[in-house]
Amino acid sequence: MAFKRKRLVQSVHTKGAGMNYREFEQLFPTEEKAIDYYLENRYKGIITCPHCGNKENIYRYKNRTKVFQCYSCKNSFSPFHDTIFWHARIKIRYWFYVIIMFLNNRSGISARNVQRQIGVSYPTALRMLRQIRKAMSNEEEKVFSGIVEVDETYIGGKPRKFNNKEGKPLIKKQLNKQGRGTNKTPAVGVKDRETGQIYVKVMLPNKEGKKLTGKQLIKVINAVCVEGTTVITDEFKGYNNLTKNGYIHYKVNHSLGQYSAGNGIHTNGIENFWSIFKMGWYGTYRHMSIKYLQLYINEFCFRQNTRLHERAFDILLDRTVIS
Ligand SMILES: [Zn+2]
Repeated sequence: MAFKRKRLVQSVHTKGAGMNYREFEQLFPTEEKAIDYYLENRYKGIITCPHCGNKENIYRYKNRTKVFQCYSCKNSFSPFHDTIFWHARIKIRYWFYVIIMFLNNRSGISARNVQRQIGVSYPTALRMLRQIRKAMSNEEEKVFSGIVEVDETYIGGKPRKFNNKEGKPLIKKQLNKQGRGTNKTPAVGVKDRETGQIYVKVMLPNKEGKKLTGKQLIKVINAVCVEGTTVITDEFKGYNNLTKNGYIHYKVNHSLGQYSAGNGIHTNGIENFWSIFKMGWYGTYRHMSIKYLQLYINEFCFRQNTRLHERAFDILLDRTVIS
């Protein structure tokens, strides 16, 4: 019986995220090939000296592949000086490998994992992931205008029995409390239904210590939605002023069990995103400080927003410039 080879070849390409390990090996067999790929992507073959602006008399060192020499002004420079790759002794090829792992793992990857896979120290692995997250945060501006879902969530640890302001042990009811009224940090997410794009902002308490005020919510929605956008939210009173602010507003009645009422009035899309994020935050990144929450959320937004792009890898490379 003939072996169906054709089928196998087709399945090599993963859907979304853009690149798998086999493609990585083919594209970047050596460090030089990886650097060439970056240069082609960024400069389209024309490298400019940052000292004198010369484009022609530029040469490359044979054994220091990251460094270039300008023969017009006699200075050397690295095309990576303004990128996340700068200053690290890590090979660009390893950076690319970590980026691909990062893009392909829906719940993120831990620094321990990177440490094991490419044989760097734990602090270096942490730093690499932080740098990649910075690139992921370098997002282009978003404009939503059709139908969006807006929802808030609370992130943080479970309240500890003795770890509260009064020093009194909490009773069981308080320990099991979820959502509003806990010490957790709120985040507000907006999802464009048509494009699937997501925008999330972590909301720290305002000056009076109030969390998630109506003003804060409007600010998040204003940042990405144009006037006249249809906004679907839950019944939280913080959303009461949406109509006044020029939006068409629909509320989901969760108390009536209308999680998906069949009329399109639901926030399931953004709620799905929260569950993916929480898998990563509580599963992969167990002990991360709330201080970095926005950075971690940006990582998950980037993955979500580019998941259908063939070249998510190239999009990320474009954002590695952080001068
Ligand atoms: Zn020069």
